[in-house]
Amino acid sequence: MNFEFAGLTDQGRVRSRNEDALLQRPERGLFAVADGMGGHAGGDVASRIAVDVLDEHLLAAGPDPDPDEVVAAIRAAHQAILRAARAESDLEGMGTTLTAIRVRADGCLIAHVGDSRAYRLRNGSLEQLTRDQTWVQDQVDAGLMRPDQARHHPFAAMITCALGIADVELDVQLLQPPCEPGDLFLLCSDGLTAGLEDAEIADVLAGREDLDGAARALIDAANGAGGPDNITVALVRFGGSAE
Ligand code: CA
Repeated sequence: MNFEFAGLTDQGRVRSRNEDALLQRPERGLFAVADGMGGHAGGDVASRIAVDVLDEHLLAAGPDPDPDEVVAAIRAAHQAILRAARAESDLEGMGTTLTAIRVRADGCLIAHVGDSRAYRLRNGSLEQLTRDQTWVQDQVDAGLMRPDQARHHPFAAMITCALGIADVELDVQLLQPPCEPGDLFLLCSDGLTAGLEDAEIADVLAGREDLDGAARALIDAANGAGGPDNITVALVRFGGSAE
């Protein structure tokens, strides 16, 4: 399937460095966002290892890796981060989210760990496809909290699963959403979604033909909302001209 893409990562307005990582491999239809955290200096190391190991493993897996191979690649990234953290005490405790999209001949595959997100914009309506692996999302799913309470909760950023965190079972969410020409997929770190409601993200994307401009506009909107965290976005639109 033909697609267009764009991606950007930005430090935001508050953090002293960018611990997010963005992977763009259009020649293989692979894009990913990772949001690193923890350790004295390890967040950016963890997110970089995650996208690099994913990239290398899927390159080795051939032109059309199946879902099992994508999960294996993410588990390999998890192990690589654990090894790196064991080897250097400054990196102990580092971890990262990872949300990836693999464009296939007949649609796409999305793999996800943590609280970065994948969305699909179709006919102007934005749908969150991934489930946040967070404590507040668990509360919402159990009927103990409303989504608006979760959003503003002091523990909103507490994630329950991440690559590199040794004491959690890595729970890789796999999705194969139906894709139609015109569908726009957005991967993002929580620096975008912490500042902007879904409706605001949809408004920023509405009617934009130019994906580079759309990525820039998302970053600008998140920074306009205070930019409290690193912001990373990857956009993939089906049915556009091939690049
Ligand atoms: Ca973040």
